[in-house]
Amino acid sequence: MFDFDLFVIGAGSGGVRAARTSAGYGARVAIAEDRYMGGTCVNVGCVPKKLYTYAAHFSQDCSDSRGFGWTGEVPAFNWHVLRDNKSAEIERLNGIYDNLLSNSGVTVFNARAKIAGKNTVAVDGKTVTARYILIATGGWPFVPDFPGSDMVLTSNEIFDLPEFPERILVVGGGYIALEFAGIFAGLGASTTLSYRGEIPLKNFDKDIREKLFTESQRHISMRMNSNVSEIRKGDDGIVVAFEEGDPLTVDCVLYATGRNANTRELGLEKTRVKTGKNGAISVDEFFETDEPGIYAIGDVVGRAALTPVATAEGMVLASNLFKGTRKTLDYANIATAVFSHPNVGTVGLSEEGARDKYGAIVVYESEFRHLKHTLSGNPERTYMKIITDKATDRVIGMHMVGADAGEIIQGFSAAMQCGVTKAQLDSTIGIHPTAAEEFVTMRTARDG
Ligand code: NDP
Repeated sequence: MFDFDLFVIGAGSGGVRAARTSAGYGARVAIAEDRYMGGTCVNVGCVPKKLYTYAAHFSQDCSDSRGFGWTGEVPAFNWHVLRDNKSAEIERLNGIYDNLLSNSGVTVFNARAKIAGKNTVAVDGKTVTARYILIATGGWPFVPDFPGSDMVLTSNEIFDLPEFPERILVVGGGYIALEFAGIFAGLGASTTLSYRGEIPLKNFDKDIREKLFTESQRHISMRMNSNVSEIRKGDDGIVVAFEEGDPLTVDCVLYATGRNANTRELGLEKTRVKTGKNGAISVDEFFETDEPGIYAIGDVVGRAALTPVATAEGMVLASNLFKGTRKTLDYANIATAVFSHPNVGTVGLSEEGARDKYGAIVVYESEFRHLKHTLSGNPERTYMKIITDKATDRVIGMHMVGADAGEIIQGFSAAMQCGVTKAQLDSTIGIHPTAAEEFVTMRTARDG
């Protein structure tokens, strides 16, 4: 009756996973993408960002190596080599995504798709019908409107700068701002971070925010309670005026002030699909919009704008549509990392959130100098924190600022998902000497 069982709009992490999984269940699936295979994560997000983060760490590694006996010139950094090697790797990944889809039997349209009515999509000059339509069009950087805002860059452009900026201003206090400020500072740019609030990472644990702020100040000029009023071209670069304080001249301004749902020109006006804050599409717990048969997952829904969440949503939806299940996704205990310098890793509730939810909580914390830095001379401190529900001893939050925080927190998030208690952490034998072992050796509560 229909051309396809499922038509997916958007070949990012969520869309591709939903398409492949559905095809694996025997559904006839099509996917449309007019930009790049793999979406934000592969092309202008997680993957190139992590590659640039590795690049940025080498400068610290070089200076850390001195105390271990390494001598000689510090190697010079070449932006063009990094950028072009990154682009070649992304191109390789684009090809892999294309192959994964075709090998799963998914019909790929390298074209823009628009909903033309119930069960109908206009794509590549054709009209095709589908039993279900899935919107997985992701997000798009948001830049506030102000004089000169057309001169700023976003995370869409920053990876491919023609030349390395010797002076950069990053605006924002979230994931992207902290990560890119760390990257450019590490690569050798004079880096300033301007944030409108007191201290970045607003919804994170307060201690984590403060520790990262302290560490960041050693690499980045942190301009807090700061608001850009105007940007103009000057003789020696881009001149940024602030509502408070002196202007700043830089080579490049990166705005990382959040992302909105990418719903433009999707044909939503022809449907009953509703949108809310930042344009996010409203869906029920089964990812169905207000228009029966039209579903949405990933950043366009914005429940948690994270790649693994989008792929998990895609798999749940595919199972529900084509395997007859009625699954929902558990959004509790989603671990995340901010790949700042140093990294932040976090899972569960912040201390503030835990107090609000549970009342009586117990907090354990540890701050120390990493063994590596006893010889490197690097003053960086590592901070780790466990929060438990006093009544049950259950661990309800784990947070860390320090090297490899994301790698460490991932394993502990599995334990939390299994309901781990503090007593069970205490009965776990540590791996010595590691930073991670602190999470199983903290014994003294800070307060109750
Ligand atoms: P975030 O929502 O994390 O942060 C946006 C920041 O911009 C906040 O600090 C906010 O301030 C500030 N801001 C918002 N509006 C304005 C404005 N008009 N003027 C000045 N500042 C403003 O967004 P990002 O863009 O950093 O990242 C988007 C999402 O992508 C993240 O939330 C995350 O889900 C995902 N992501 C995840 C990564 C990871 O897992 N490592 C990496 C990168 C992105 P305030 O705090 O005051 O609201």
